[in-house]
Amino acid sequence: MNQGIPLVSGTKNTWCPGCGNFAIQHAVRFVIEELEREGIPRERIVLVSGIGCHAKIVDYFQVNSFYSLHGRTIPVATGIKMANPDLYVICFAGDGDLYAEGLDHLVHAAKRNVDITVICHNNRVYGLTTGQYTPTSPYGYKGRSTPQGIHESPLNVIEVLLGSGATFVARAYSRRLPLLRRIIREAVLHPGFAHVDVLQICATFYNLTAFYDEQVYETTETNVSQFDFACRTGHLWQYAEKGPIPLGIFYRTIRPSFPEKKEPFTKDRALAVKEIISRYS
Ligand code: SF4
Repeated sequence: MNQGIPLVSGTKNTWCPGCGNFAIQHAVRFVIEELEREGIPRERIVLVSGIGCHAKIVDYFQVNSFYSLHGRTIPVATGIKMANPDLYVICFAGDGDLYAEGLDHLVHAAKRNVDITVICHNNRVYGLTTGQYTPTSPYGYKGRSTPQGIHESPLNVIEVLLGSGATFVARAYSRRLPLLRRIIREAVLHPGFAHVDVLQICATFYNLTAFYDEQVYETTETNVSQFDFACRTGHLWQYAEKGPIPLGIFYRTIRPSFPEKKEPFTKDRALAVKEIISRYS
């Protein structure tokens, strides 16, 4: 047990002042502490990150974690969950990381209803590499690699997730902390693929604080089990420069997840896999 060991590590934090990642870290800390109080020990939680500013979050927690490759958080998280279905696996990824290189993994994990939680730090810019555009940057965005502005429309990731079969789809904002905490908690406890798209402020390269503060609103979350209703809510904002922007849980439903909890990855199955691997190595 980790009794007495602080949840937040002593690693020096190098996020920029004002970065929305602090709020996500705070919300996750709150949720893990709450789950621990409710009897889910820290040992049953595993954190996985990709590459980008967001990824440092795993260094800032004293929780079992895996720092994976760019766009590859979901395959790693899926493997961890298959090996031990009793674990709560939480993936952190950036929008450039997850919605570009990692998009195929995202779509198929949603389709399979892999029982993991994905938290996307969606700042709509490549922050770590100083401001290039990502799949969720708005039309006309001017970044380091596109000084004339981009001529493509952003991806509506909520619609992508709904169309892929995700069973929990939500949007939060790093400056609406109570909502962020609640949504992350519900996502972690959801039995199936849960996705939280967090509008995260990049204070240095694309600071949308004033725009979001003015445009976001919290939905009532009625009818979250109705797919048509979720599609309409998800369609309301196309990641453009105009709002209004709905926040909240858009869709939640229950269907068989992968792996099925009743078929754990037993020692016998592990030995069988080991035997197959040894044949080809
Ligand atoms: Fe945060 Fe942007 Fe700084 Fe990265 S570059 S730490 S996303 S403010």
